[in-house]
Amino acid sequence: MKVAVFSTRKYDRKYFDQANELIGHELVYFENLLREETAQLAADCECVCAFVNDKLNEQTLALLAQGKTRLIAMRCAGFNNVDMEAANKHGLTVVRVPAYSPHAVSEHVIAILMALYRTTHRSHNRVREGNFSLEGMVGHEVFGKTVGVIGTGKIGALVAKLFLGFGCKVCAFDMREDEELTRWGVRYTDLDTIWETCDIISLHCPLLPTTKHLINEDTLAKMKSGVTIINTSRGALIDTAAAYHALKSGKLGFFGIDVYEEEDNLFFEDLSTEIIQDDLFMRLTTFPNVFITGHQAFFTDTALTNIADTTLANISKFDASGSCANQVLIG
Ligand code: NAD
Repeated sequence: MKVAVFSTRKYDRKYFDQANELIGHELVYFENLLREETAQLAADCECVCAFVNDKLNEQTLALLAQGKTRLIAMRCAGFNNVDMEAANKHGLTVVRVPAYSPHAVSEHVIAILMALYRTTHRSHNRVREGNFSLEGMVGHEVFGKTVGVIGTGKIGALVAKLFLGFGCKVCAFDMREDEELTRWGVRYTDLDTIWETCDIISLHCPLLPTTKHLINEDTLAKMKSGVTIINTSRGALIDTAAAYHALKSGKLGFFGIDVYEEEDNLFFEDLSTEIIQDDLFMRLTTFPNVFITGHQAFFTDTALTNIADTTLANISKFDASGSCANQVLIG
């Protein structure tokens, strides 16, 4: 199939070219984000391969369907950026990579938390400058903390187990309870109990209309003073302005994010020589108790290999049979 691969960087090409060697799809790479304005680039491609910050809204999908495009191959797990009703209406099949390495994301949660609790990033910089002072770097221990995991699917389940390994008490909220986790000692509870009792809260549910701004002024008010929130799921699960105010008041003690609700204007680009216009984001970067990574939780060698392999296998299956087990279904 001829595939327009949007939002590509050097590393995407490397892993996709490698995976495509024996398959032989015709891959056309574009650095551009997929938008209404760029959809035309895919006019003669049967398949469009898109990523987390591409915007597959009604207008973009209508334009793709006017060309040759029949398949949208998301090279990620989430598909909150695809208007699924519009895709159905325009006869576009959407496939995704449901799991490529839940370990990559779950381990990154710990990396963020440890940076916040042990200021390893600051020590690294200090030591490189010959500054061995420990002033301002008193750490916090994870052992014994009560952790709330929201969403215990593939990633959340691993996160829960990692925290059990640290000697934490782990509570969880999900509509579907994982019996294995219960056997491991995780206690399922309601959201209010998580807000009220947890020292650390880690988000692993998908972004849906019902989960948008799950963390907001009201839910933050119910939390323990000095609570730690980690979000590696999707930025809009958190009302960032509310988190900012909670950081200023001290209610929110530590804030670690790999995702941000306005990240599509920032992440995956080198903006180091530009004036970044997002004042809320830039202010957050000045807080000593905030640690931000640019949507890199998934970014490991294993995950990139799996993403490329599964995306191309999805495309091949659709090409051969018109359907694919990793098809996104609505309703
Ligand atoms: P998954 O589908 O395996 O698990 C999601 C879980 O959330 C399911 O168990 C589901 O029942 C639960 N859920 C749904 N609605 C909920 C709600 N309202 N409250 C609580 N739980 C709810 O998905 P996953 O592979 O574990 O991924 C989780 C999220 O991580 C994805 O939605 C994606 O947005 C994000 N993600 C981020 C990165 C990254 O690089 N930062 C990489 C991969 C995935």
